[in-house]
Amino acid sequence: MRPVTVIGGGFAGLVAAITAAEAGAGVTLHEAHQVLGGRARTAQPPYRTNEGPHALYNGGPHWRWLKRRGLLEPLARLPVREVLRVRYHRHGRLHRLPPLGLFRLAAHRTAPAGTDFRSWATARVGAETAHAAANYAAVAVYHHDPGGLSAAFTQERFRRASKVPPEAHYPQGGWQSLIDRMAAYARRLGVAIRTGERVTELPPDRPVVVATALEAAGRLLGDQSLTWPGTRTLLMDVALERRPGDAFVVSDLDAPGWIERFTAQDPGLAPEGVSLIQAQFPLASMAAREATLRRAESLLDQGFPDWRQRTLMRREHTAVNCTGAVDPVDRTWRDRPAVDRGDGVYLAGDRVAAPGVLSEVSYNSAVRAARGAVRTAAR
Ligand SMILES: Cc1cc2nc3c(=O)[nH]c(=O)nc-3n(C[C@H](O)[C@H](O)[C@H](O)COP(=O)(O)OP(=O)(O)OC[C@H]3O[C@@H](n4cnc5c(N)ncnc54)[C@H](O)[C@@H]3O)c2cc1C
Repeated sequence: MRPVTVIGGGFAGLVAAITAAEAGAGVTLHEAHQVLGGRARTAQPPYRTNEGPHALYNGGPHWRWLKRRGLLEPLARLPVREVLRVRYHRHGRLHRLPPLGLFRLAAHRTAPAGTDFRSWATARVGAETAHAAANYAAVAVYHHDPGGLSAAFTQERFRRASKVPPEAHYPQGGWQSLIDRMAAYARRLGVAIRTGERVTELPPDRPVVVATALEAAGRLLGDQSLTWPGTRTLLMDVALERRPGDAFVVSDLDAPGWIERFTAQDPGLAPEGVSLIQAQFPLASMAAREATLRRAESLLDQGFPDWRQRTLMRREHTAVNCTGAVDPVDRTWRDRPAVDRGDGVYLAGDRVAAPGVLSEVSYNSAVRAARGAVRTAAR
């Protein structure tokens, strides 16, 4: 069997490398950075902020895959008292309960791709609840207008993000710890991991799995057609002196936005007595950044009284095309750039043609890409 080359050492690259190695292939993985993980990197102490993912959804295929290999644990455990500190921002005020219509809408397992979520949900639960549901879905969509996207796309994310008990679980120590376990497992399988090696052109040897962000894959393949709509999200990380009574989550139902205190489930992310919070607010355009920042601050005022006086660290960042694909009306994941590019080249990542929510797209495409690469390698 010929060796398999994997370009990119994020979640997708590691899944692809492990899948190919388990099938018996020799694998070399090249990662441009010194540290593996890509968007799943977690900052060093004292404030272990996550650049990208926090939640690992237990309804996804990656959950079972990680569990079978002993890579899932340890997970952070959310104390029950924190569940009572979830707040819903509606009509300008914080509430303890969401509108009950949200649960009725969440019972719909599927929705059509040929209509927008707003129209589809309005026909079922009325315009006001549909608006709240679209904004709630922003926690897994990161788009400034989840209601304008395909109903199939937004409903899948709304339903999974609103399940009781929640699907969201959290790798203890952030996703970096999960990545480190995956990398150690890959090395045990014999995968050669080369960090600090940016690949500047596609190697002539095939098969190759390109597991970079879609824009970087387009440059490597010299293929301008590798595009798909993404998102623009304002991320604000804040470390605060801890105060009992702070909210755990503030979900904005008036407009898309989410704030979560991640030390509630994983106190080790910050020093003793410090809360680490991330606000995630989708942006329609860069011009909307200042107004959106003010909105995030106003929600922090409501959920975390006196947070400005208690702030020990504050960082802001605009993430562009970093949160995965969004599917407009009349489009589904099948219309995204195909995994198999022909000639022994395969794509893996979160904006390519594979099902799932957020990093599950990276997982599903990586497994498909690795299986294709192994077939090519054996030919
Ligand atoms: C704010 C935010 C919140 C998110 N929340 C969640 C969540 O809660 N749950 C969830 O499941 N997902 C979440 N996601 C999505 C998740 O982060 C991504 O889907 C996933 O990390 C993508 O992994 P990847 O391996 O496909 O891509 P990346 O992580 O981008 O990895 C690509 C890698 O390729 C490397 N690379 C690029 N070019 C080259 C080159 N030429 N040569 C060598 N290496 C190269 C890069 O350095 C990088 O390490 C979130 C994302 C963001 C931004």
